[in-house]
Amino acid sequence: MRIGAHVRMDSDPIGFGEKLGADVIQMFVVDPQSWDKPAPHPRAEEIKASDIDLVVHSSYQINVASLNNRLRMPSRNAVAQQAEAAAELGAFGLVVHGGHVRSDEEMAEGFVNWRKLFERQADKGGFPVPILIENTAGGNHAMARHFDNIGRLWDAVGDFGAGFCLDTCHAWAGGEELVGIVERIKQITGRIDLVHLNSSRDAFDSGADRHANFADGTIDPQLLAEVCRTAGAPVILETPAEGVADDLAYLREHVG
Ligand SMILES: [Zn+2]
Repeated sequence: MRIGAHVRMDSDPIGFGEKLGADVIQMFVVDPQSWDKPAPHPRAEEIKASDIDLVVHSSYQINVASLNNRLRMPSRNAVAQQAEAAAELGAFGLVVHGGHVRSDEEMAEGFVNWRKLFERQADKGGFPVPILIENTAGGNHAMARHFDNIGRLWDAVGDFGAGFCLDTCHAWAGGEELVGIVERIKQITGRIDLVHLNSSRDAFDSGADRHANFADGTIDPQLLAEVCRTAGAPVILETPAEGVADDLAYLREHVG
């Protein structure tokens, strides 16, 4: 069982992971609010050589599904660039949110755009690390909020070896029950490559994306431990910094 957390200290990610006692860490390769091009990490050699596994989370504006060329094109470029940077650090994947179309637009076209991302990259030899598509919490035209839509998404991208990242806060706030969720999503995607194990500040099906520590959130911590135990994938905590060590300790105690 590989458990860890999202890094808040980008200058020294391995130091952060060691201090926390993490087996796996997640980090950004650019300011997540920016369209910056990734720069080489000054500690790349140390990161690659470490026993601590790494996954990279892509920046937040990326929306591969968008029907707007001026958002979709830079999104495709950013995914390609950040996948390259992830590979250079020895990461096992790049997490990309499912994205959305606008409420007056057809969801089907968003799924086609996801397929095109992979088709176009396949012409260039594919991505250098697996793209892990993450479920999201809000909106009625999200590609990966409701699991029936994730099924439609997978019909579009499954052939290309897309990976899946299950976020428990997003599933819960998005209105998907956590009991039996691992089996349910695996029936759709065939795989879980990464878990974002977060509690939620908000209620079931609220549509709000606000992560909480296990002790403060609205999700029963035993349900979170159950997902951790059954997913068969590395687990990253993206919970508020002040409680991450306690969340990790809870998992070490209850998952074994
Ligand atoms: Zn997440």
